[in-house]
Amino acid sequence: MAKTIQAIRGMNDCLPTQSPLWQKLESTVKRVVSAYGYNEVRMPIVEVTNLFSRAIGEVTDVVEKEMYTFEDRNGDSLSLRPEGTAGCVRSGIENGLLYNQEQRLWYMGPMFRHERPQKGRYRQFHQCGVEVFGIDGPDVDAELIMMTARLWRELGIDKHVRLELNSIGSLEARAHYRSALIEYLEQHIDVLDDDCKRRMYTNPLRVLDTKNPDVQAILGDAPCLADYLDPESKAHFAGLCELLDAAGIEYQVNQRLVRGLDYYNRTVFEWITESLGSQGTVCGGGRYDGLVEQLGGKPTKAVGFAMGLERLVLMLETLELDDVRRSVDAYVVTAGEGTMLAGMKLAEALREQMPELRVMNHFGGGNFKKQFKRADKVGAAVALVLGENEVSENNVVIKDLIGGEQITIAQADLVNKLKEFI
Ligand code: ATP
Ligand code: MG
Repeated sequence: MAKTIQAIRGMNDCLPTQSPLWQKLESTVKRVVSAYGYNEVRMPIVEVTNLFSRAIGEVTDVVEKEMYTFEDRNGDSLSLRPEGTAGCVRSGIENGLLYNQEQRLWYMGPMFRHERPQKGRYRQFHQCGVEVFGIDGPDVDAELIMMTARLWRELGIDKHVRLELNSIGSLEARAHYRSALIEYLEQHIDVLDDDCKRRMYTNPLRVLDTKNPDVQAILGDAPCLADYLDPESKAHFAGLCELLDAAGIEYQVNQRLVRGLDYYNRTVFEWITESLGSQGTVCGGGRYDGLVEQLGGKPTKAVGFAMGLERLVLMLETLELDDVRRSVDAYVVTAGEGTMLAGMKLAEALREQMPELRVMNHFGGGNFKKQFKRADKVGAAVALVLGENEVSENNVVIKDLIGGEQITIAQADLVNKLKEFI
């Protein structure tokens, strides 16, 4: 036998048994973002590498070690997108969507990062992102958080996520803070690990979200970003908190929350769950007023978030909230001369009259017992049975596969009668 070929580590198939849950998640997301008047944008999966190093920042985990970068046949350096914001901004600038106007956008699709695969962390994963351009906030910042809160309620996971919030101020305020932080870290250089030492001068804020407990211990007395915030950022943050309080959305201010990517300013937030172990962040976002200009556009206010769909699917599975409906409603069972054709016609007529109904025909023959077994296996609610008698009299038997009873009715009454079962 020939050797089988396997998928790339960390890049998973979505199998037929899993796709109903994915579809439910995706359709709920689409419904919620549409309810706020947001429009979908679809960007390419591959972009020039420069876009990501300029947008995300050279000294970030994503750009330093997680990107899938390759040369194409022209010798250009291209990368599989590790996130969506950079491509969304590139597209907005290129297509003239951002200049002097508001945009409320969302996207959904695969992202790629070369990380160590584990539960909740994959090399091809899926995000839904929402980005708003041209609005100063904090009202729109609050709307984005309210939108995510609504999504959690609709998915039934609102009791299992909590919101962390922070303001990281303006770029200038952060520059002041940066120097103070570096000075403090220099005094504790003996405690820092190699990663922290390397980041200390290039991206010292990243030291704040280290997982190293020894470093965490000295960070308790480190200068606090909140003390360096510019008055405008302070007012923005106070405004956001007020709106969230009024909307009844609970949050914790976490002064260590800085987020991994360089382009954020002012508001940053994360939704975190305890139900997935260490890969607990299901959604992260914030304001990035400098990015459009950094990528060559006119200065444009911007705010957005991205959520990891695998982690949400895992939550729905772990919490056993995957009450996804069966994928077949009615299973057509036939036996006898000419009944197969009659069964296919009946199914076609039903699809015509009940477009939402999922009807599956049994193929390959076999006695009724075998066919009913198959109907059970696909999870159908009813079997529609046609023998030679039913066909000649234009009747059909509805067999309730859950309750067990069965009735014979005229085919003409089938649509009405079926509604009682499904
Ligand atoms: P983490 O700290 O977990 O690595 P991150 O800060 O790198 O997350 P973002 O770049 O903010 O993540 O991406 C937004 C969301 O996308 C994350 O909150 C997470 O839910 C999801 N995500 C990020 N990387 C992965 C991955 N490798 N596999 C699955 N989901 C991911
Ligand atoms: Mg990461």
